[in-house]
Amino acid sequence: MARKVLVLGEVRDGSLRNVSFEAVAAGKTASEGGEVVGVLIGDSVSALANEMIHYGADRVVTVEDEKLKQYTPDGYSQALMAVIDSERPEGLIFGHTALGKDLAPKIAAKLESGLISDVTSLEEAGGNLVFTRPIYSGKAFEKKIVTDGLLFATIRPNNIAPLEKDESRTGDVASVAAEIKDLRTIIKEVVRKASEGVDLSEAKVIIAGGRGVKSEEGFEPLKELASLLNGAVGASRGACDADYCDYSLQIGQTGKVVTPDLYIACGISGAIQHLAGMSNSKVIVAINKDPEANIFKVADYGIVGDLFEVVPLLTEEFKKLKV
Ligand code: FAD
Repeated sequence: MARKVLVLGEVRDGSLRNVSFEAVAAGKTASEGGEVVGVLIGDSVSALANEMIHYGADRVVTVEDEKLKQYTPDGYSQALMAVIDSERPEGLIFGHTALGKDLAPKIAAKLESGLISDVTSLEEAGGNLVFTRPIYSGKAFEKKIVTDGLLFATIRPNNIAPLEKDESRTGDVASVAAEIKDLRTIIKEVVRKASEGVDLSEAKVIIAGGRGVKSEEGFEPLKELASLLNGAVGASRGACDADYCDYSLQIGQTGKVVTPDLYIACGISGAIQHLAGMSNSKVIVAINKDPEANIFKVADYGIVGDLFEVVPLLTEEFKKLKV
């Protein structure tokens, strides 16, 4: 059934996050030949509209207001509800990001709709649109179809490939007026952690360190390899608890959930709570001194050895490939 699908674009530091383009691709599948409408919310976002169109949106609507400069649940839901009222979509797709996870249930409740969260793939099968999502901390997957009402999903970053960018694509860009009022949260200042390099939740390559890294300085060889591969550094909770690195790097059940193309786990034992955040990575390499370490059970490639020897050797070899 052809349907109109709204796709929320996520803006950070004046640019669209990659998950926005992945959501457009999911929206295209969900529209089943209907229309994909990008939605941009912020204080000055219309300049980004064409990029959503280049990645496959048929047109874009924007809601601009200086009160929308920073994300607040009230402000964004008022803006989005104004768009939903004017567009009357049959589908909604957001990224399963911190913003999407906060906003989507709120909108679903307002619309009295269901919500399929954390979708890792979406395809047409047997006349149905089938949404796949991990359950039990990634140990199993469930498949869902929507039989009635709004088709509303959040998609996990790094799982659904964006469509090829086509700069010759054109489409309408229009603004929707929304009254943004009675905000219960006012963001006075955003204090950023001094993070280096690539965003962990969108990284294609992650070099993660555990308690085996032994110190803050022990992360240096991991950082070098990550920077060479244009990747990000992550960590187990063991490393965070030991104060070797910041908690913003923690991957796992109570940290970030990541699905990079390549995950290199260095000195991480592979506790179930860590696996919950990374076991769906496409290729997993584990480096551990203990051949019995649990991490080897999920690894595609295992290296039994001292990470302080193995990681610099890998860096040397990757450097040769880059020459
Ligand atoms: P360890 O288990 O101590 O493993 C260190 C590993 O390093 C060992 O396997 C050792 O053989 C290896 N090693 C040591 N030296 C070297 C060397 N030189 N070279 C190579 N290998 C070496 N954990 C998470 O990671 N993320 C979570 O989100 C999370 N959430 C949790 C939630 C709850 C409710 C609970 C109870 C726990 C949670 N944990 C989480 C903690 C989890 O149970 C483990 O304690 C933690 O993951 C262990 O971290 P680690 O693997 O770095 O440390």
